[in-house]
Amino acid sequence: MLKYSGKSVYKGVAMGKVLVFNKEEDVVKREKIEDTDAEIARLADAIVKSQKQLQDLYEKAVKEVGEASAAIFEVHQMMMEDEDYIEAIHNMIRSESINAEFAVATTGDNFSEMFAAMDDDYMKARSADVKDISNRIVRNLLGKEADDNNQSEPVIIVADDLSPSETVQMDKDKILAFATVHGSTNSHTAILARMMNIPALIGVPMNLSEIQSGMVAIVDGVKAEITFDPSSEECLSAMNRIKEQEVQAKLLETLKGKDNVTKSGRHINLYANIGSVSDVGYVLENDAGGVGLFRSEFLYLGREDFPTEEEQFQAYKQVAQTMAEKKVIIRTLDIGADKQVDYFEMGKEENPAMGYRAIRICLKQKDIFKTQLRALLRATIYGNISIMYPMITSVSEVEQIYEIVDEVKNELQSAGVAYKEPEQGIMIETPAAVMVSDELAKMVDFFSIGTNDLTQYTLAIDRQNEKLCDFYDSHHPAILKMIQMVVDNAHKEGKWAGICGELGADTELTETFVEMGLDELSVAPSMILKLRQIIREMD
Ligand code: PEP
Ligand code: MG
Repeated sequence: MLKYSGKSVYKGVAMGKVLVFNKEEDVVKREKIEDTDAEIARLADAIVKSQKQLQDLYEKAVKEVGEASAAIFEVHQMMMEDEDYIEAIHNMIRSESINAEFAVATTGDNFSEMFAAMDDDYMKARSADVKDISNRIVRNLLGKEADDNNQSEPVIIVADDLSPSETVQMDKDKILAFATVHGSTNSHTAILARMMNIPALIGVPMNLSEIQSGMVAIVDGVKAEITFDPSSEECLSAMNRIKEQEVQAKLLETLKGKDNVTKSGRHINLYANIGSVSDVGYVLENDAGGVGLFRSEFLYLGREDFPTEEEQFQAYKQVAQTMAEKKVIIRTLDIGADKQVDYFEMGKEENPAMGYRAIRICLKQKDIFKTQLRALLRATIYGNISIMYPMITSVSEVEQIYEIVDEVKNELQSAGVAYKEPEQGIMIETPAAVMVSDELAKMVDFFSIGTNDLTQYTLAIDRQNEKLCDFYDSHHPAILKMIQMVVDNAHKEGKWAGICGELGADTELTETFVEMGLDELSVAPSMILKLRQIIREMD
């Protein structure tokens, strides 16, 4: 038995035979040629053929995983037309009198290294794309057909790495799961795996020489583990979990595309909470109506320095684009308390949950806030973005925020940078905000109730303290009364109110929330269909 851990891309369980995916490495030799014009014409033919293949792949992907995910093949088509890329290949053929295959392979390697060396995670992930398009052109120059790795029975694909086009070319009915040694969670391969509902692990430190096609394996996307040659107990347990998964999946299928509406016709928006760009897959897969909370501070965690405006812009833009015109509510950074980041140099605090955090940092360190606002406003033109501010306690804070937002808008306008007016809302997660929600409602477009913090501050219970779990009563009448008050105050001003704290997914309260008049619940993607079911069964 061999067990490895990796990073999970899709949380599902699968068991079956392994197929070790061997890429056919195209050996490209450098050859001297006489007629460079003829070589460039040969290259042009190969590019036309490659473009046609990509168009076919695009159409296949649109049908199987939707337009947003298929867009990668349009990107590949565009990359293939990139002037710098084509010019670099032409120059090489002309100046060195060499064959097109070698010029394409070398240019592909150079561009790929250039992308890999960039700071921006999104650009880094494009390194694999440029290699992918170059390999395709080379294969067409060599007169080889696209390798579709056909197999008859469904298998678990084990590979060193997989490119987006390799992933989508695979017949998804014949794939149970995949596990790769390399790959990034931001890559389109990972995005496609999520869309395809395929349990998948990446970054698994497998020794591929020890693994043979035909071995049995279990991919556990929940524990992020792959087990080769599992014991009979492990097989039994995996089979049970797969059965449970199938029951869930059936439920999922029947509710997809349906409205979140009670029998008496009351509709409620069900949105999803995400922490990173790569979570958008779960949002779409579970048929959420939008993103109700993108915890942007996760972009700041686990790194040495602040994310740049460009890095943030790329992340927000990608989420907005992937969600097409669906609402995407991005919360400005909520650092502090349990979410500590060394480079903010905040020093030790006696009571960090009641300390220097979230909007307080943004109002004091305006440069950090303005960088994020610029990235957010620039991203507005790529979809339907709303901005949400955390930890609000007063009218004056909202006034200060709007002053800074106006400053950023003026700066963007002077620089000729386009943006769309986003809706702006606030989190209601302090008792103070609840008590002045009548005034706050006049100032904002929406409220989203952060019940995690609201419960902590109302009941004076540290949400991190394990010893207090028994006292942390999220159904406390004080909390429910506060929610009702916030909803009523929002509605008096014609604004909407939702919940994005964990309580929103509490199925014991779903009916209560609908009766209270909440307009939205934003929950973990996996809870969307469960809540939809409860709402649809309500009178
Ligand atoms: C909340 O407090 O309920 C909330 C949604 O924000 P977070 O859990 O990120 O503090
Ligand atoms: Mg909170």
